[in-house]
Amino acid sequence: MSIPIIIFLGPPGCGKGTHAKLLAERAGAGHFDLGSLLRGIAKSGSPRGVELTGFMSKGLLVPDTLIIEIVRDALSERVKTNPPPALLLDGFPRTVAQAEALEKVAASIELGPVSVININLPNELIVERIANRRVCNKCGAIFDVLEFSGKECPKCKSGQLIQRDDDKAEVVRRRLEEYAAKTAPLLQFYGKKGKLVSVVSDAPVEVVRERVYGAYKQIQPK
Ligand SMILES: [Zn+2]
Repeated sequence: MSIPIIIFLGPPGCGKGTHAKLLAERAGAGHFDLGSLLRGIAKSGSPRGVELTGFMSKGLLVPDTLIIEIVRDALSERVKTNPPPALLLDGFPRTVAQAEALEKVAASIELGPVSVININLPNELIVERIANRRVCNKCGAIFDVLEFSGKECPKCKSGQLIQRDDDKAEVVRRRLEEYAAKTAPLLQFYGKKGKLVSVVSDAPVEVVRERVYGAYKQIQPK
């Protein structure tokens, strides 16, 4: 039996990671989060970890070839040791070259078919959500100014709530533009194959969670 792959795509701030996790729990599927995998490898101090740290510590993009090698090894290992009924990919692929590589890897290790759940949210809503975010400079707790507008952290009671530079509206807008430019070819790639279902996340988490589950049911291989 081949293991279906469901790729999660979506702009920063749309709740993609949260919904991938929720769906994995509900569907009993595996959750493959490239960001955590890379951080884990970088910390391990292995030769590959050292190579990764070289790029990440300088703020350089990790080359596709290295990403693809890492993903291929991790997926093969997962299929061999602990095969899930379905596998949700979060953070990979990010480019058409990575998507093409994934097709090859999938065909060689009993993975597939590949389909995509694309989480969408109008840019202005994302900017608003992120711009309302405040972070404690001591314990890292996150608050929404609409829910808590004080200056002192109510959790650790000693930190100050600040707005991160990354969360400022103009920075978020720029990141969203970058995301759209980079991801458009990927959406086209999967759209053309008829393997893409979009979900709008302009509602409370419980509502969006149902939409995502509906999309998952829709793309289940019959
Ligand atoms: Zn705090």
